[in-house]
Amino acid sequence: MTNSVSTRLAVLGSGPAGYTAAIYAARAGLSPIVIQGIQPGGQLTTTTDVENYPGFRDVIQGPWLMEEMQAQAEHVGTKIAWDHISSVDLSRRPFVLKGDGGTEYHADALVIATGAQAKWLGLPSEEHMKGRGASACATCDGFFYRGKKVAVIGGGNTAVEEALYLTNHSHDVTLIHRRDSLRAEKILQDRLFANEKINIVWDSEVVEFVGGGDPEALVGLDIRNRNTGEISRIECEGAFVAIGHKPATELFGSQLELDEDGYIKVETGTTNTSIEGVFAAGDVMDKTYRQAVTAAGTGCMAALDAEKYLASMEYEALAAE
Ligand SMILES: Cc1cc2nc3c(=O)[nH]c(=O)nc-3n(C[C@H](O)[C@H](O)[C@H](O)COP(=O)(O)OP(=O)(O)OC[C@H]3O[C@@H](n4cnc5c(N)ncnc54)[C@H](O)[C@@H]3O)c2cc1C
Repeated sequence: MTNSVSTRLAVLGSGPAGYTAAIYAARAGLSPIVIQGIQPGGQLTTTTDVENYPGFRDVIQGPWLMEEMQAQAEHVGTKIAWDHISSVDLSRRPFVLKGDGGTEYHADALVIATGAQAKWLGLPSEEHMKGRGASACATCDGFFYRGKKVAVIGGGNTAVEEALYLTNHSHDVTLIHRRDSLRAEKILQDRLFANEKINIVWDSEVVEFVGGGDPEALVGLDIRNRNTGEISRIECEGAFVAIGHKPATELFGSQLELDEDGYIKVETGTTNTSIEGVFAAGDVMDKTYRQAVTAAGTGCMAALDAEKYLASMEYEALAAE
């Protein structure tokens, strides 16, 4: 039997964007529901040390920060649903979201905060070395490798930007690319080639993340030259996989306007999507910054935009009586 839940505002996703949207919406009296998805707390629950979220002088733990955000959201009146949404109908009013558990959510307004996931190479040794030297975010983790040798894997804008960023911390950055030329914009390539701290290894793919020591940590990458088949090792303590991100937008593909990379398009300076009453926040609409604090910032914006939208709907309904 279908269980039906009605709400003025549904927030899809429980990362920093979703919980911040919920905190603002609950304090505005909207009694939001956060639908957590299969990763309650979002991406930060997959990391340990967080040193750049404002307000904490000491290093904090990602999972702890997300527990605090959830507790704050609940404290101000947010309901939490442990459910994963498998289909949405944004053509109906209220919007309809169907959960895996059989619940149907009817929402007057919707904040989408489903995030994005970094793409990885898919090697078992890469999986094993996550948190031990393998990372997908130089802005997040680069600081932990100051003064150490690091490598970046990829050849697009993100890879080049990550390599350039890492030179703030390391004097020895190796960029490993599968081809003999980069896809990155020319201006970024010029900066990369001019930077003496960066060495480029062409036509090569990583075949193994190599660990060592106790506790185990990354000591190098084994790479294969795609022309000769020769395997060699690059010594490094940090390896940053920068081959792109995948926004979680499969649910909305044919209903909402997405950009060429699949991110939800929003009107500049707002969180308004192509459908009135549907707002997007966090990594699902931001392919540039992708940080917890920027996700929280746009989550706040989405709640304020949703509150304004719901107030205007109520005013119109009253005027029509
Ligand atoms: C290993 C790692 C370390 C990081 N370190 C830092 C750091 O030190 N500092 C920093 O600022 N940033 C860091 N980041 C980046 C930061 O985690 C992200 O920018 C931030 O989490 C994005 O927040 P978000 O709310 O947009 O989405 P996410 O955190 O990605 O959350 C998405 C949410 O959507 C839910 N969801 C998805 N699909 C559905 C669905 N169909 N139904 C219901 N729910 C759904 C998921 O369950 C999840 O709760 C790190 C990221 C990673 C991966």
